[in-house]
Amino acid sequence: ATPTAIMAAIGNATRHGFLVREGDALERLAAVKKVTFDKTGTLTYGTPGVYKVSSFLKEFSQEMVFEMAAGAELRSEHPLGKAIVLSYRYTIHKEVPDGEGFQMVPGRGVIATVKGTVVMVGSPELLFTKDIILTPKQMEEAEFSRKEGCTVVYVSVGERAVGLLALSDTLRKEVGEMILELKKTLITPVLLTGDHKNAARQIADQVHINEVYADCLPEDKMGFIEACQQKKEYVCMIGDGVNDAPALKQAYVGIAMGGIGSDIAVEAADITLVNDEIKEIPHLFKLSKKMMGTIK
Ligand code: ADP
Ligand code: MG
Repeated sequence: ATPTAIMAAIGNATRHGFLVREGDALERLAAVKKVTFDKTGTLTYGTPGVYKVSSFLKEFSQEMVFEMAAGAELRSEHPLGKAIVLSYRYTIHKEVPDGEGFQMVPGRGVIATVKGTVVMVGSPELLFTKDIILTPKQMEEAEFSRKEGCTVVYVSVGERAVGLLALSDTLRKEVGEMILELKKTLITPVLLTGDHKNAARQIADQVHINEVYADCLPEDKMGFIEACQQKKEYVCMIGDGVNDAPALKQAYVGIAMGGIGSDIAVEAADITLVNDEIKEIPHLFKLSKKMMGTIK
């Protein structure tokens, strides 16, 4: 494309809410045939509510499970973490205990010392890394909530799993339509998520995404894109989280959600969707193809 055409396209993209770091990214976008989406914060609003708190042990009330989880998440920038802290304040009306030694494990959860004990909040895999094994009953309890579309996180205190929290996030309103638009232009949508496969399927089915990869760590998301590229498939990744940064970098074109997204995701991407208006995505593809003269 000519410099003038590129400048005009960048201007148009800006009016549709895209911050394009360099014209090359728009040129590359015209060749993309596959778009990989992150789930939480990208397809969903990323502002979930805590739907259920459950306790596994008599000596830990629901409120104690909630309190320890909120304390561990107090410094979290992850949508799930922020939601847990906000919901705790809103429903329990008490101060959140401040944790120490906050540690984030991307794609898995958080670890912090709350009230003198180590607390973990996250996926079963996070707990396994510290040799905390969930019973079949505790695993099963999560399945109920996942079937209703919730994301489930477990809470451990010291050496024991003490409970779980089910969070329900809302799908962004325009996602279904956006996916159909992409499919019309023969672009294949794929869901890449760190969440459990049943929670992922529940979301994917609602918006007609057939290809789903769940339980992805940040390196798995990146690895998937790498594998596509080895097959000469050009992939655009769209994500918001720290966990998406390696994939955003690896992708032929990376697009970050600018509103909800973390700075790390924005820095890793070529383009930022400033107001998270996901319905604008198909427009950007059309724009790049027009610019490259692939379509009129
Ligand atoms: P996604 O790919 O859908 O955006 P993430 O990779 O950010 O999801 O998270 C994947 C999973 O890791 C979550 O479903 C949750 O189980 C766990 N997790 C990640 N961050 C946190 C956190 N701050 N608190 C609790 N769990 C978390
Ligand atoms: Mg996310």
